[in-house]
Amino acid sequence: MMSNNPVICYISLGSNLDNPVKQLKQAINELSVLDNGMLLLQSGLYQSSPMGPQDQADFINAVVKLETTLSADELLAQLQAIEQRHKRIRTQHWGPRTLDLDLLLYGNKTINTGNLQVPHPGIPERGFVLYPLYEIAPDLEIPTGESGSALLKELVAKCKDKTTTKYSKN
Ligand code: ADP
Ligand code: MG
Repeated sequence: MMSNNPVICYISLGSNLDNPVKQLKQAINELSVLDNGMLLLQSGLYQSSPMGPQDQADFINAVVKLETTLSADELLAQLQAIEQRHKRIRTQHWGPRTLDLDLLLYGNKTINTGNLQVPHPGIPERGFVLYPLYEIAPDLEIPTGESGSALLKELVAKCKDKTTTKYSKN
């Protein structure tokens, strides 16, 4: 495995099956012991209505900040390995899942390969990503390609998602 310079990354976590709070706490634990990584910050837990099919439970969400020397592809592979350990079964698009780990940001890089899009394209409209991200990184700038960027606090101010709330029953 190549050793690169450490990069700051943000990862979103979501679950709506099989004790979501426990799924997220376990996943954060697994992220904290990743080889070639160091967990720097974690948001509190949030609750959100499902996107797409409505006949499923609310989601519990969080975002973590990680420093890693893994490449973006290697990190994605690690995230997918953690999802697999949580017995994630892919059935319907936007359907219920025990664990969803999305790579939101990888340093200030924009990546567009077959299986990886960074910054994650859902960031601007997803309250369950924006709010926990803003909690741990209020001054963040999101690269928009061609050396442009958007301020996270402006995306939060414009966000129309009213279903995401802080989850208090920790
Ligand atoms: P979603 O997160 O949209 O509900 P999945 O978790 O099933 O869907 O992911 C489907 C595919 O999305 C994965 O196979 C992965 O290759 C791809 N993908 C593209 N960009 C990213 C990213 N930034 N983070 C995680 N997965 C991504
Ligand atoms: Mg995903």
